Amino acid sequence: MSEENTANKDKEIKEENNVQQQEETQESKETQPNITINKVEKIMKSWVPKTELGKKVYRREITSIEEVFEKGYIIREPEIVDILLPDLEDEIILIGGTPGKGGGIKRIPVKTTARMHKSGRKRSLHAMVVVGNKNGYVGYGYAKGNDAREAIEKASRKARLNIISIRRGCGSWECNCHQPHSLPFKVTGKSGSVKVELIPGPRGLGIVASSEPKKVLRLAGIQDVWLRSFGNTRTRINFIYALFDALNNLNKIRANEAVIKETGVIEGLSK
Ligand SMILES: [Zn+2]
Repeated sequence: MSEENTANKDKEIKEENNVQQQEETQESKETQPNITINKVEKIMKSWVPKTELGKKVYRREITSIEEVFEKGYIIREPEIVDILLPDLEDEIILIGGTPGKGGGIKRIPVKTTARMHKSGRKRSLHAMVVVGNKNGYVGYGYAKGNDAREAIEKASRKARLNIISIRRGCGSWECNCHQPHSLPFKVTGKSGSVKVELIPGPRGLGIVASSEPKKVLRLAGIQDVWLRSFGNTRTRINFIYALFDALNNLNKIRANEAVIKETGVIEGLSK
């Protein structure tokens, strides 16, 4: 074996070690607890806010989502929500479906629609994304794109702009713990033929709902609740709309002092 060969081999080993080291540093970065701070820093570096609210959030003149809601601002830039709620999570709602083997329907993330165009059949894809911080804030977005990725990205941005704060509490007579693990009272919502009813549940019950609405309730931070639905719930989009209608109605119901005290109602974040 020539000297050159040995040298090359040494170099190779060295390079391999380097790669390994790089991977290790990347990994340790990912496991850092301040990952949400990194996310905010990243947005702050690349984002050029356009709206009045965006500029105020960017300059740190507004530092909480509660303030945005209290002052009645309309959120037009998704970055605002990412900065004020850094632990926001995304979930894709499976709205598409093809009849699967054995008669069941296989759910897929995107819904395909085709319409006639002068150049032939034109296909577009629709996606629905729900975002939430698992602590009183949740939103949905529905969008169209030329491919699945585009539709999902657009829906994810829209979901941030649509974020709402929800009321939580303990309206379960079996539980009566005054903690915000459930809802303060029973509430209903409607969209098209679908009606949804949310019923407060006792601590430890969990979310009693099918997979797609369960994603919404989990991201909202509602831990114990029963969901009852009526109508054609196979149209997932209406099902999710009806659920959001119910969550919105939670805020509309006038709660008197006694109910607030009894159920421990909170609006939005629990401290
Ligand atoms: Zn309770």
